Formats: sequence, structure tokens, C-alpha cells
Amino acid sequence: MEEISLPSSPLERSTVVDKVEPVDFLTSSAERELRKAPTAERPGALLGPVKVVHAYWLAGMSCDGCTVAVTGAMAPSVEDLLIGRLPGVPRVVLHHPVTSVESGDAFMRNYELAAEGKLNAPYVVIFEGSIPNEALAAETGGYWCAMGSETVPKPIPTTTWLERLAPGAAAVIAIGTCATWGGIPAAYGNPTGSMSVMDFLGKEYLSALGLPVVNVPGCSPIGDNFNETVAAILLFLNGLGPLPEFDELGRPAWLFNKTVHQQCVRAGFYEEGTFAERYGDPECLVEIGCWGPVVQCNITSRGAINHLGGCMNTGGVCIGCTMPGFPDRFAPFYKRPPGTIVSSTTSRTVGSFVRPLRRITMQFQNREPLWDKERHVPSGWGNVPEPGPVKKGVHYFYEKWQFLNSERPGRTKANEGYDDGYEVAAVQSGDSVPPDHLR
Ligand code: SF4
Ligand code: SF4
Repeated sequence: MEEISLPSSPLERSTVVDKVEPVDFLTSSAERELRKAPTAERPGALLGPVKVVHAYWLAGMSCDGCTVAVTGAMAPSVEDLLIGRLPGVPRVVLHHPVTSVESGDAFMRNYELAAEGKLNAPYVVIFEGSIPNEALAAETGGYWCAMGSETVPKPIPTTTWLERLAPGAAAVIAIGTCATWGGIPAAYGNPTGSMSVMDFLGKEYLSALGLPVVNVPGCSPIGDNFNETVAAILLFLNGLGPLPEFDELGRPAWLFNKTVHQQCVRAGFYEEGTFAERYGDPECLVEIGCWGPVVQCNITSRGAINHLGGCMNTGGVCIGCTMPGFPDRFAPFYKRPPGTIVSSTTSRTVGSFVRPLRRITMQFQNREPLWDKERHVPSGWGNVPEPGPVKKGVHYFYEKWQFLNSERPGRTKANEGYDDGYEVAAVQSGDSVPPDHLR
């Protein structure tokens, strides 16, 4: 039998091995970058002078939820940033205690090179989790959050790394509500003395690029919000984009300038004054604990991951997790916010007038003009009731107003004839030729 030879699959081992550069994981990725060509010739952004930017991830009092959120981001994805796939955005070399492949001394060497100013490339610092008061822990010889150790084994607090790296960073970006505003570790009681990156570095802090701390809040934040902000800052760093617009609290303004409520999929129910009484109901959740009307967050429009999910989209109330007042100012969770007594009572009152009027209009908009003429709906699915005289009266005046100073659909002119004999009949709205079986 004749042997058939198939072309090799693009994923066959030999093909992949040929293309992938061997990596020595016993050295740090920052050192491997230094051994590559000079900055201008390194592989990275196709456009602009900055080819590579290092990103130093530091974690304080954190649950790693921000890391999980960012690894799920899609627009742009972490992979887009790591391989330099976005035009003009420098390739990111990420140093992350959870996701980096090197460990121990090789991993810590990355941080030391940056602190010593030996990277030969710009870097940004990303801080996840709140900043604990290490002096409190030191009183009993301990520490809260540390990474690496000095020559005499003594853990180095991540806050010390922040102090070392922040002055030379192109930007310090706080990710998640713990890092941006203190969050849950800084809630009432606060035994660790936790605070935000902004509180820790102070008002005078400016990065090497002249930026105060950039804040991307959320518990956890939307990964896309964070990656998009990083990409926008790197584009600016590369001279190919404007300085992104930040609000007075350092949030990316285009992502946080609207309330949840303004973009909520349930806002129509609020406006018509219909409210959920229990979880699982489809209406507005304000009376069972939603703070959306006073919270700046875009999760209802952007979704949690890949435009899917997000609190109200999936039935959850807003507990204000992006806000500086979270969690104390939004407690107790799942209790009706006091302000709703005024706002939802007003919506309910207005809605009780507006809703029936809208349903009348909807009933007519749900009908073909032919059905009005024939006075029945030929639906085999079920009986469609005919509107009564009151509804017809309301609709009559509604249409009068609708077409006031406007032309109604259809030809209102008399029959017209053209020189070539072609005739156009006068047609009124709803006029049409009925099917044979109705004649
Ligand atoms: S569920 Fe919350 S955010 Fe959505 S409409 Fe109601 S109050 Fe507004
Ligand atoms: S809708 Fe509210 S609870 Fe949900 S992510 Fe946004 S701020 Fe947090």
C-alpha cells in the first residue's frame, strides 16, 4: 500500500523547539534582558523609542484576587502585553511573585537590579494589597508581608521594596481597593495598621514620569480596566499617546466617571419604580441593598471577564467595592441604603403613572397597522386581546401628538400619474392589499 506522508503539524515538537528561544531559568529575567541587544534594537514595540518596560509586582495585605482578575483580562490580555502585541506599547517584562517562573535569588535579582538602577530600561511598580504598618509587627520581631531577605536572613517587607523602587519608577500603579484605598485590611479595627499606597507615599510623591499614584480600584478590580490603564500609560511613556485622563483621586477617568446605576442593566426597572423583593428577582435591587446609584464603577457595562458577568448582570447588589469608603461606609451589606427611602419611593410613585401609559403605547406598537384594520391578530400562538375604547382613545391622542407638525407615513397626495402611464395610488397609513383569504 502506498504510504501517505502528511505535512507536519505547526505544533509538532520539532517545529516549536526550533522557534522558541531556550530559557535559563536559573538567571533572572532582568539579567537575560540585559544580555540582549541595546534598548533600541531589542525586540518589543514596533513603534517608538521604548521597546521594553519592566513591571514589578509587589503584594502587601492581599488575597491575590487582583492577580487572578488580571490574568483573566481579555482587552488587552496579559499575553498581549508580555509579547508586545499592541502597536506602540512596549513589551512588558513582568516580575511577579506568583506567576514568574524563576524563584529564590534569581527572582529577587530582578528587584535588586531595579533598586540599583541597573536595568537599562524603564520600569513601573504595581502594588496589590494594602500597606501594613511593619513597625507594629517588628515590635514582636515579626513582619506582615515580605519578599526576599537581606544577607543575614531577615525578610524584606514589601513596603521596603516599594520605598526603594517608587522613586525611580515611571509610574506606581495601585491595583485593587486594598492598594488604592486600604480596603478590607484597613476596615474598622485595622489591627495591622493598613493603609493605601497613596496614604503611604504621601501627597508629594511623583514618579519619574511626574505622575502621582495611579489607582485602579475594585475588589477584585476588572482585569480589563487594569490592563487597559497599563497599556495607556506605556503608550504615553513611549511618546505615542496622550497622558491618560485621571480624576482627582488618580482613577482612570474614562473608566470611573459614571455610576454603576447609570450603566446598569436594571436601571429601567428603577426608573419605572419596580423593585426586587428577594434575590433572583429580575427588577432593580436597590431595596435589598444595592448602592449602585452612588458608586463609581463600570462593571455592568464592561462585565467581569470578556464582557460577561458583573454584579447586577448576574443578580448581585453593589456593595461599593471600588469606593474609598469601602467597606465601612457600605456596611451592613445587603441592607437597604437609607437614601432609597426618598429615591425609590419617588420612582415608585412616578412609575405607577408612567408604567400603565407605556403599556398602552407598547400594546399598539406591538400591532401591524393591518391588524388594526382587520380588528384581529391572526396569531396561531395565542389570543391577542383587542384594545378597548379607552386605550384606543388614549392612543388616538398619542398619535395626534406624535405626528403634530410631521408627516405621517404613507402617501397623503391624491393618485398621481406619470407621462409614461405609470400611476401611483394614494395610500394612507395602515392601507395595504389584504391577502386573498381576507377579501
Ligand atoms: S440594581 Fe442597583 S445599580 Fe442597578 S438599577 Fe437598581 S439601584 Fe441601580
Ligand atoms: S458593582 Fe459595586 S460591588 Fe460590583 S464591582 Fe462594581 S463597585 Fe464592586
